[in-house]
Amino acid sequence: MADYNAPVKDMKLALNQIARMTELSTLPVFEDASADMVDAILDEAARVARDVVAPTNWDGDQKGVSLKDGGVVCPESFRDAYNQYAEGGWGSLQFDPEHGGQGMPYLLSVPVMEMWQAANMAWGLCPLLSQGAVECLSINADDALKAIYLPKLISGEWAGTMNLTEGSAGSDLSQVRCKAEKDGDAYRVTGEKIFITWGDHSLTENIAHLVLARLPDAPAGVRGISLFLVPKYLVNADGSLGEYNNTKPLSLEHKMGIHASPTAVMGFENSVGYLVGEENRGLACMFTMMNNARLGVGLQGVAISERAYQQALVFANERIQSPAVGFKVPGPIIRHGDVRRMLLTMKALTEAGRALTYDACGSIDFSHHAEDETRRSREKARAALLTPVVKGWCTEFAQEVTSLGVQVHGGMGFVEETGAAQHYRDARILPIYEGTNGIQALDLVGRKVLLDKGEALTLLLSEMRETIALGGAFADLAADLEQAVAAIETARDELLAGAADDPQLAGAVAYNFMMLLGTVAGAWELLRQAEAAKTLQSEGEDDAFLEAKQVTTRFYFEQILPRYLGYARMVKAGSATITEMSDEQFATAW
Ligand SMILES: Cc1cc2nc3c(=O)[nH]c(=O)nc-3n(C[C@H](O)[C@H](O)[C@H](O)COP(=O)(O)OP(=O)(O)OC[C@H]3O[C@@H](n4cnc5c(N)ncnc54)[C@H](O)[C@@H]3O)c2cc1C
Repeated sequence: MADYNAPVKDMKLALNQIARMTELSTLPVFEDASADMVDAILDEAARVARDVVAPTNWDGDQKGVSLKDGGVVCPESFRDAYNQYAEGGWGSLQFDPEHGGQGMPYLLSVPVMEMWQAANMAWGLCPLLSQGAVECLSINADDALKAIYLPKLISGEWAGTMNLTEGSAGSDLSQVRCKAEKDGDAYRVTGEKIFITWGDHSLTENIAHLVLARLPDAPAGVRGISLFLVPKYLVNADGSLGEYNNTKPLSLEHKMGIHASPTAVMGFENSVGYLVGEENRGLACMFTMMNNARLGVGLQGVAISERAYQQALVFANERIQSPAVGFKVPGPIIRHGDVRRMLLTMKALTEAGRALTYDACGSIDFSHHAEDETRRSREKARAALLTPVVKGWCTEFAQEVTSLGVQVHGGMGFVEETGAAQHYRDARILPIYEGTNGIQALDLVGRKVLLDKGEALTLLLSEMRETIALGGAFADLAADLEQAVAAIETARDELLAGAADDPQLAGAVAYNFMMLLGTVAGAWELLRQAEAAKTLQSEGEDDAFLEAKQVTTRFYFEQILPRYLGYARMVKAGSATITEMSDEQFATAW
């Protein structure tokens, strides 16, 4: 078996039965996205991910990246994989044909992106960030910038980066100090950014850095931040590359995972920058990139979980230990109940997270292209509500799943050469970057629930209630889901009622609220899939996969969904004990 085989059947089920791909392809704008076309794209992407990208994962982890002569050197194997990615047009699927894109639904690019992230997450960050840059420029840049940069970024000839973080500006971007000054039609950008993913490399001819900086006399705080496109090389009028623009990788971080993704301290010195959007409105523009990237990071959680699961499954079938119950001779460890529990936990969380992520991404397409305005705004609010849940919950369970991947391997999991440890190490960044999960939880509770008085959440819960009301073949599971939905409704009402009187409440309960919603939404998505699987099975389609989906769903309901009771109880407990301890008391034990 290859190291990674894209779970194309599960991806298609999530696309068609959950994320409404078939409905999207009926919209005039997506008339080319026929079922045959979707199948062909997924099958070919799966081949490239398996044969071209996945084999670079271990090599990248071992070799890592280095700085040489002022530039980043990455593993040689990455170049061929990147070239095949760019030549195959994989970075252009969902973008506007006016700039060289293929005009497919964003949703279709999601399983394809999942494949790159599962095949090699460190490598996959380069395309992920470039796609975010395309999205940001498409929405916010003027026509002249779009004409120069979008075709090259979409074709993959150039890459994009996101430059927000500075030494004193992490979660709190109001502290950004990087400076920009007007210089003729352009600006000059000076300052240092830290932790910049793929901040420098030579996989592409040029790099478009999207940089947050402050103009002289800009208001303090986040209202005084502007966004600039700062290219590594300036672009001449005829489109050829000109002078080097002083975008220097000053050093690279030594990290516990994603060794082959260069994480650079970037220095900009009098570098030419072009304003994206309006002056002092940079953070709002950057948010288009960040929202895209947040869903992308949630998707990375699903992807790395899938990879860890596949590896653990192979090991569990090969590793021989004592006879399992009902057997007389030693056999593979997959026969043991506890190993099966671990594998099923990995599988169930991954499949639930995949369906939830695709569902949120489908809403983004409908928010742009649905025919009536009411539907568009409803889908927009739905995607906004689900984005922090996808980012937060899927990256939290990725910790559990990749850790179980190590556990299934026993001692060999702790030993590097099996590769199980790499997934665990690589996954650890996911709850941190692109807004820590603490910040995601605050976004969910503050902006997505309290601000609209629970409206978007209530609509989502009513969708869950519609599934429950349908009854179907899994009435017992629907009854469990009903209780879980009621628990979210109670938590929502307590939050809405208590937040005004207790300013600490939202922050104290946010994480558990996010995990509550993720855990229950995951159950809902699986139940919908199990119902669909049952119907497809009765129509004579692939029996084994559809049967497994129903078993996986039952397992989730029995062994994972009950976690909601704990989360709901922790939300109910409120802020009292969390805020009670004085700062001094934290350190009184020694
Ligand atoms: C490998 C890697 C790649 C990265 N790539 C990029 C990139 O390409 N571009 C880029 O701009 N940045 C990048 N980052 C930076 C990353 O986004 C930040 O590290 C992250 O946003 C957290 O900021 P911080 O490290 O300053 O932590 P801090 O903001 O100091 O947070 C520390 C802890 O405090 C908590 N906390 C902070 N403020 C609050 C609050 N208001 N409420 C509740 N809790 C709070 C956080 O949740 C966290 O647990 C990368 C980081 C790493 C490690």
